[in-house]
Amino acid sequence: MNQKIIITIDGYSSSGKSTLAKKISKKLKYKYIDSGALYRSVALLAIRKKIFYSDLWNTKNFIPILKETNLKFKWNQKYSQTDIFLNGENIQHKIRSKQVTNKVSLIAQIPEIRERLTLMQRNIGKNKGIVIDGRDAGHYVFPKSELKIFMKGSIEIRSYRRYQDLKKIGEKVSYEEVRKNLIHRDMMDISRNISPLKKSVDSIEIDNTFLSIEEQLNLIFKFINKRTSII
Ligand code: C5P
Repeated sequence: MNQKIIITIDGYSSSGKSTLAKKISKKLKYKYIDSGALYRSVALLAIRKKIFYSDLWNTKNFIPILKETNLKFKWNQKYSQTDIFLNGENIQHKIRSKQVTNKVSLIAQIPEIRERLTLMQRNIGKNKGIVIDGRDAGHYVFPKSELKIFMKGSIEIRSYRRYQDLKKIGEKVSYEEVRKNLIHRDMMDISRNISPLKKSVDSIEIDNTFLSIEEQLNLIFKFINKRTSII
């Protein structure tokens, strides 16, 4: 397995994309790009700059602020994870807040923001050897990626998983709130004009409503082995 490939994992909110992407990247010693973290970071910046309460919401005014912003992934040795930094500040936990989660899909609609974050992702992946999770990774960011996976699962199981994750980090949120937010974000992601969430024709669809993580990984590694043995 010498040849490095690009593996894209797209799908609905809380469909387990990042759990799989992290495990796959660890096993293959590949870089991991959590593209949702990029959109969440820009949403956090917009909240901090009070974009949502002023005329700065006008994209023309926000883009220059974004251009001056330094957004970077860095490997965290202690926790074996990739953290995200905004102007040098580790915002890995802050981007998971309810406030950010409620605003991120609005931010993700703005073409100039998508363009900038797409370039950033392509730059990280230029030498291959990456696993990226997102909404448009397979059909837009890396249309030539060697392995494209599309994740789905019932709204109940996805809401339950996200609810458990939020409880773990101490967010005070109800299951019903989480469910409504997921439905809302899915709807915004599917219906936006620019690079919406969609399954590309050449992707492998996995519905993990009734699948354990090990079962999903076994399945995905069968495809990885096939892809890496033919290039
Ligand atoms: O993956 P995660 O749930 O953290 O993503 C947060 C939000 O960022 C999504 O609901 C979606 O609106 C947006 N997003 C996107 N394109 C991506 C990744 C995330 O529009 N590639």
